[in-house]
Amino acid sequence: MLIFKQAHDLQQHLQLQRQTGKQIGFVPTMGALHQGHLSLIRRSISENDLTVCSIFVNPTQFNNPSDYRHYPITIERDIELLLTTGCDVLFLPPVSEVYPPNHQKKHYDLGPIETILEGAFRPGHFQGVCEVVDRLLQLVEPQILYLGQKDFQQCMVVRRLLELTGRTLPELRIGETLRERDGLAMSSRNLRLSPADRQKAPALFQCLQRIKANLATHPAAELEQRAQAELEAAGFIVDYVAIRRTSDLQPAPNGKDPKVVLAAATLNGIRLIDNLAVN
Ligand code: AMP
Repeated sequence: MLIFKQAHDLQQHLQLQRQTGKQIGFVPTMGALHQGHLSLIRRSISENDLTVCSIFVNPTQFNNPSDYRHYPITIERDIELLLTTGCDVLFLPPVSEVYPPNHQKKHYDLGPIETILEGAFRPGHFQGVCEVVDRLLQLVEPQILYLGQKDFQQCMVVRRLLELTGRTLPELRIGETLRERDGLAMSSRNLRLSPADRQKAPALFQCLQRIKANLATHPAAELEQRAQAELEAAGFIVDYVAIRRTSDLQPAPNGKDPKVVLAAATLNGIRLIDNLAVN
């Protein structure tokens, strides 16, 4: 595996690969890699000639400075995992390579998706996500971009970014959420949970499953409220539990449209998110 820290070196290498006709798959991450990340990398390896993973903890998408400061960094272990998975290229840039002095900050017109759910609780988050994804795509120029359904709203935002920037590539492919044996969605932030909170954390997914099981027979608002109360009783601070239309994440209480239930809640300062398709 080649490791690049400089944008220019990465671009030069990938340019040569493209000239020999190689199809590039790209998996952007913030590191502290787990099997969820690796499932995307394995998929990219099986569907492309060359797979690029980036590890970059993007400061511009953190609305909470403490979350940024404490974001887990396990770079040596990450490199080992990428080597054993068979990743071809790791891009591991410092902030100054992603945002050089001549970097122009843009505003992305994301529409209503920007300010609901995650956007309401993390102001500016999705602008930061777009900023880094836009820049990384400019550097990597992949044919296929892999994201995880775990970050459901982020996938929608990136789809919108691709439309906005008028790129014909990359194609976006979304991988399913990998979970621990007890149902907790794998996440780098799980590393920060205390042992006691790690025991409590699966309650988030259990709430989503209960909503799914009861949605045909109970009003959505009642299920949302009950789930919120159950999570609060278990010690979470709940940002939202919301049953939404899959197409645009707007409420659709009586519609027959496909729906997804999304939740975000904090355990002693560690914020967890999850979602589940409910029909
Ligand atoms: P992150 O490092 O958290 O920014 O995640 C990098 C990519 O991995 C994103 O596209 C995430 O949606 C995806 N991802 C994170 N957790 C999981 C998971 N448990 N299963 C599958 N993909 C995931």
